[in-house]
Amino acid sequence: MEKKYRREDEGYMRLLIPKIKEECGIFGVFGNEKASEHVFYGLYGLQHRGQEGAGIAVSDGKRIIFEKGYGYVSEIFGEENLKRLKGIHAIGHVRYSTHGESSPRNIQPFVIEGYRGSIAIAHNGNLVNAVQLRKKLEEEGAIFQSTSDTEIILHLIARSKGENIEDAIIDALSKVKGAYSLLFLTPKAIYSARDPHGFRPLSIGKIENSYVIASETSAFDLIEATYERDVQPGEILRLDENGIKTIYNFPKVKPKHCIFEYIYFSRPDSLVFGKNVNEVRKRLGRRLAEEQPADADIVVPIPDSGMWASLGFAEKSGIPLEFALIRNHYVGRTFIQPHQKERVFGVRIKLNPVKELIEGRRIVLVDDSIVRGTTSRRIVRMVRDAGAKEIHYRVSSPPIIGPCYYGIDTPTKAELIASSHSVEEIREFLDVETLGYLSKEGMLKAVGDDLYCTACFDLNYPVEIPQEDFVQLRLFERGEN
Ligand code: AMP
Repeated sequence: MEKKYRREDEGYMRLLIPKIKEECGIFGVFGNEKASEHVFYGLYGLQHRGQEGAGIAVSDGKRIIFEKGYGYVSEIFGEENLKRLKGIHAIGHVRYSTHGESSPRNIQPFVIEGYRGSIAIAHNGNLVNAVQLRKKLEEEGAIFQSTSDTEIILHLIARSKGENIEDAIIDALSKVKGAYSLLFLTPKAIYSARDPHGFRPLSIGKIENSYVIASETSAFDLIEATYERDVQPGEILRLDENGIKTIYNFPKVKPKHCIFEYIYFSRPDSLVFGKNVNEVRKRLGRRLAEEQPADADIVVPIPDSGMWASLGFAEKSGIPLEFALIRNHYVGRTFIQPHQKERVFGVRIKLNPVKELIEGRRIVLVDDSIVRGTTSRRIVRMVRDAGAKEIHYRVSSPPIIGPCYYGIDTPTKAELIASSHSVEEIREFLDVETLGYLSKEGMLKAVGDDLYCTACFDLNYPVEIPQEDFVQLRLFERGEN
């Protein structure tokens, strides 16, 4: 049955590969002479959310122009092209995809000319009914330019019978399912929307008399914007010359914020889902020390991801903290390099042990998560080679057993070490004396409430993936695409 489906719909894999492999950040500013400059700095503050490519679209009140490219924000944008991007309203996007089609046509914002005028879109999240929707749209004659799920929203807007652009956006968003934090730019307005579960963060700030909207508040600090509030789950709002206005609210459902934003993804200096990320991470570390104590001489964070949890762990356990692994900051994130080989090599060029601190000692290594286990194993080997007497590995989240379909870049289920191995087996694989994960209950207690999607830890996916999409995902996971 599945094979038959695959033969018939092979083309749709194009769509799915990037779909389940994206992480992104978005930023917008309305009514400001320095619009594109602010977006440039805003994207700088969101660079951790995606390093593959970036783009800025700007309106001067009449028409939209844009610029996008591969690489870091600072590599794509400079004085010259920012000067060209003259305008007063702008949106921007940073993107990363580890797999599948890595093509300039997938870099956002996407800009189209429709009969309602120009519109640009920037999206963070993943739609889970993308295959189904795209198939239907293509059958009806739509021609897609990218393999990204985001383009589907533009087609739905273009085809909507809604009287104006606002009705068309509401109409389009009522057809998509999954995770979206969105910015739309039209010549005279910016619209922003967040899916009813509020999977991904999205915050509103103010600079002078202009509103700014960003994936994380870390984007506000550089331009000295002040935080106002979050775009609410299910809210669609408009920024225009009259200020800010909520134009629609989807019926309320219980929020399912992505808990992995706290564990790993967001910047620690951001306020995400109403809480400071640094504080949450420290609490996770304290709780970890309570649940999984270790008899050891020093606590060593795995930089940078384990820094904040290790502070909490050291504080609660009373074991001194030592920075015994030094990170070379001039190398990109190792996990993020596309090929396994590079990742393995990447550990060696990225981290260096301080032998004097490690030799002859019992070490607690603290990290935020274990995904495939390959980086962690390399680090353990390195610490062992530096002379550690014992290594106790502590993780400030539960075992990751399922992939994310809502916008975090996790590998397929088969590659997730905890999806097929027990904690004892993982301990053996890592080659450590003891291994301890934080429990799911402990994680939720540390965070402080239960408004979260924890699907990667418990397989409770809050938004169902339609059968058509799911079949394709399964084929992809089994490497049969
Ligand atoms: P590994 O041992 O290969 O599973 O790698 C574990 C490391 O990957 C930890 O330090 C995590 O902080 C980091 N990590 C977790 N999730 C992600 C992600 N989505 N992208 C990049 N790195 C991640």
